[in-house]
Amino acid sequence: MSKDKIKVILEEEHIPKQWYNIQADMPNVPPPHINPQTLKPAALDEMSALFPRELLLQEYSRERYIDIPELVREQYKKYRTTPLYRAKGLEKAISTGCKIYYKYEGGNATGSHKLNTALPQAFFNKQEGIKRITTETGAGQWGSAISMACNMYGLECVVYMVRVSYNQKPYRKIFMETFGSKVYASPSDNTEIGRMYLEQNPEHSGSLGIAISEAVEDAVKRDDTHYSLGSVLNHVCMHQTVIGLEAKKQFEILDEYPDIVIGCHGGGSNFSGTAFPFLEDKLRLGKKVRAIAVESTACPTLTKGVYAYDYGDSAKLGPIALMYTLGHDFVPSGIHAGGLRYHGASPLVSSLLHDGIIEAQAYRQQEVLCDGMLFARAEGIIPAPESSHAISCAIHEAKKADEAGERKVIFFNLSGHGYLDLYAYEKLLANALGDSDFYAEEMNKALEKLPAL
Ligand SMILES: *Cc1c(COP(=O)(O)O)cnc(C)c1O
Repeated sequence: MSKDKIKVILEEEHIPKQWYNIQADMPNVPPPHINPQTLKPAALDEMSALFPRELLLQEYSRERYIDIPELVREQYKKYRTTPLYRAKGLEKAISTGCKIYYKYEGGNATGSHKLNTALPQAFFNKQEGIKRITTETGAGQWGSAISMACNMYGLECVVYMVRVSYNQKPYRKIFMETFGSKVYASPSDNTEIGRMYLEQNPEHSGSLGIAISEAVEDAVKRDDTHYSLGSVLNHVCMHQTVIGLEAKKQFEILDEYPDIVIGCHGGGSNFSGTAFPFLEDKLRLGKKVRAIAVESTACPTLTKGVYAYDYGDSAKLGPIALMYTLGHDFVPSGIHAGGLRYHGASPLVSSLLHDGIIEAQAYRQQEVLCDGMLFARAEGIIPAPESSHAISCAIHEAKKADEAGERKVIFFNLSGHGYLDLYAYEKLLANALGDSDFYAEEMNKALEKLPAL
């Protein structure tokens, strides 16, 4: 087959039948999550008010491959497999000698990779007899994905949406409501925690940490309700491995293997899903592939945070995990890549970074959106501001290789499109974007409140 293909699409039968669980191969499996009340490792039963048993078993499983239920595969078939593209337009635009490939996860109706985990999460909750799901959303992509998945399985869905995004992205709210969800701007007066933050400041712009607390409080109050998280947790990262597993097959068809695999990083699920199947080759076969997680300089969890036990949410209701963190009280400055504004990180990604198996880089908003626009003009897809971080990194690595006289094969995941983020591009076009700073003093203050374990 020609090595010069522009696009590789696999047949439906190549949708993976199993997810890849990197816990089977990593040198240091993250310790169990800690119960925030007892400060002891949480037994599965202590978390069953929030999650179905099947997902909790996946959370701690050491099995290398875990079967994807046939009914979930049926849903995946509606939008998978997703295409792998050779970014010839981008290569030309930056005159690189490297080959750049990207996989596009924005082709489904919700516009991002998040549907890959929303579907199995709704499925396993439905199977356990749950009637109602609560969740948080930042930029709105996760809320959109879980809304659609809940609607498919006949589950009620309640979304706490970070207020700044709720005001900035009204179309995301309408999207979720179209699928029958109830959407609250967070902090809301629907929960005790929300009311507490509103009392401090009626105009509170909210944060992911606060929205998670509200969703968790709502879920524990009712027997028919579970909580669902769109990233960070081990089972969520594992569900996303359909991305990398498909990509490996697509590279096989091209008779090619990436030297560098790149994914933007908010809570870690997109990066994990893209990179873990390649890391399997690194950990088991000694392949020399580099994996780079890319974050925003406004929320530099992996590049500036500390590796420590911390709460996943602001009100300390959810489990404590060992991860890179900026402190659960840290509120990152506003950036358009709302999906990258999380104080913590996936424990799996954190452990791999701590062990030097993966790398992390951070990029500034202005550069990132300029690269997003360059990509749009070269490739014909307007990328989500989150995904544009991966583009910036791919361009940076290509230029670095060019300077060293090397011809690398670079692969990144285009996690979503930016058609509901045009506000960010409007700002860029008007020269009114600017960069959001990171304040180390704020982080240091937040880090004083880490749990004493
Ligand atoms: C949510 C989101 C991200 C960040 O995802 P994580 O999996 O939490 O790291 C990246 N890109 C897009 C398009 C998103 O919607």
